[in-house]
Amino acid sequence: MGRVPTSVMWFRRDLRLADHPALRAAVDAGPDGVVPLFVLDPHLFDAAGTPRQAYLAGSLADLSERVGGMHVTHGDPVDEVVRVARQAEASTVHVSGDRGPYGSARDERVTRRLAEHDIELVRTGSPYAVAPGRVTKDDGSGFKVFSPFYRAWLEHGWRDPAPAVRDVPWFSPGGRTHRLPEVSSDADLPTPGEASARARWRDFLDEDVADYGEERDRPDHDRTSRMSVHLKWGEIHPRTMLADLGRSAGAEAYRRELGFREFYADVLHQRPDSAWDYYDHRFAAMDYDEPGDDLEAWKAGRTGIPIVDAGMRQLLGEGWMHNRVRMIVASFLVKDLHVEWQHGARHFAEHLVDFDLASNQHGWQWVAGCGTDAAPYFRVFNPMTQGKKFDPDGTYVRRWVPELADVPVKHVHEPWEMDDPPADYPAPIVDHAEERREALRRYEALR
Ligand SMILES: Cc1cc2nc3c(=O)[nH]c(=O)nc-3n(C[C@H](O)[C@H](O)[C@H](O)COP(=O)(O)OP(=O)(O)OC[C@H]3O[C@@H](n4cnc5c(N)ncnc54)[C@H](O)[C@@H]3O)c2cc1C
Repeated sequence: MGRVPTSVMWFRRDLRLADHPALRAAVDAGPDGVVPLFVLDPHLFDAAGTPRQAYLAGSLADLSERVGGMHVTHGDPVDEVVRVARQAEASTVHVSGDRGPYGSARDERVTRRLAEHDIELVRTGSPYAVAPGRVTKDDGSGFKVFSPFYRAWLEHGWRDPAPAVRDVPWFSPGGRTHRLPEVSSDADLPTPGEASARARWRDFLDEDVADYGEERDRPDHDRTSRMSVHLKWGEIHPRTMLADLGRSAGAEAYRRELGFREFYADVLHQRPDSAWDYYDHRFAAMDYDEPGDDLEAWKAGRTGIPIVDAGMRQLLGEGWMHNRVRMIVASFLVKDLHVEWQHGARHFAEHLVDFDLASNQHGWQWVAGCGTDAAPYFRVFNPMTQGKKFDPDGTYVRRWVPELADVPVKHVHEPWEMDDPPADYPAPIVDHAEERREALRRYEALR
């Protein structure tokens, strides 16, 4: 007698039920039962700081309720997935494809182990509108520069959102299951889950997308979509968002940003070594400083440079930072403090709820001048000028640096210019003009 047709839906970065082609495939392959599985993989879970762990726990709890109880296990996915699939007597395990460096190697190992038991790992879709590696130049090679990638990506196009899958025959295979992790974080996190992602998206479309092009660089106005965390966990698929976007100038600007997310995933797929190594290897030979007290001051938001400190404190307070400020603080670490980008990327990885290996590492490398299509190294951000331009009244700085709450607008980005600066706020740990010269000197030496 053949097996009863059951399957396993192994959730990873796709914690939703709508627009979910892999779930459709799981139901087609397992009309008699689909096991909803999540494996807490210590390699990923333990590396995340508490804000990300807490958010994931909340998102899992939400999904678990909607599937009548998620089967949660803890350990190496190679062992766990095989064990659960065998227990469920499933012939297939379904996933949304993962082409990241760790995910693709893990999935290869799982595929091989499942095959020993005559079980297939079926990959359907990916967390992107177009799976990394699909958009190529005419000669089949990958793009290294964003604009031509973006044009080719638009031309390639993507499918419409997948129809909803109704009446999934969820079932539990019994046996050992872990409780959902209980993690609490001091950070002020958004509400996790698919409904929250959808609600946030609708609000953004109703209220902010029209002005997105003009407003996206203003941390004081705080009108970006904040969809990154929902995208990170796949509580919504970018295809769903792209289908809703429309044709306004704001929508065009937003589509371009989603294009950046896809571009960096593609670049990381082409160059998995660029996750922690220099995309442009020449920069490995640059003269950097050993990280010490300066790095700690940067992490704590105590550098004495208001916009930098505001950003670093927002990261600790919300597990998120505005994009313009991510660029400013990253530039400050690399070019004013002369610390290698990986130290900053690691701190972001620990604290960002939306941490995404491709966007983070390539965001850092872009700022550090060593990434693909990078900002030229010699273009050094002046954090005071940036602050005055993008936070002209100091509203953002005051929100996150209460020591500067009463400083007049004129001095809010340069409190050291006051006759009587606030005593509880540090003096700048470096002189920007001097460090800019030093950065350029080191760059010249490299050339
Ligand atoms: C040093 C540095 C580190 C970064 N680390 C991450 C990270 O770990 N995870 C992450 O999702 N983004 C990262 N970014 C990109 C960007 O800062 C965030 O995506 C954005 O701030 C998220 O807020 P939002 O959803 O309100 O963005 P919006 O402005 O509303 O943008 C919409 C969406 O477009 C995508 N997007 C926007 N800008 C970028 C960009 N520059 N690169 C790639 N995708 C983009 C994101 O998915 C974002 O949710 C980083 C940027 C820099 C400079």
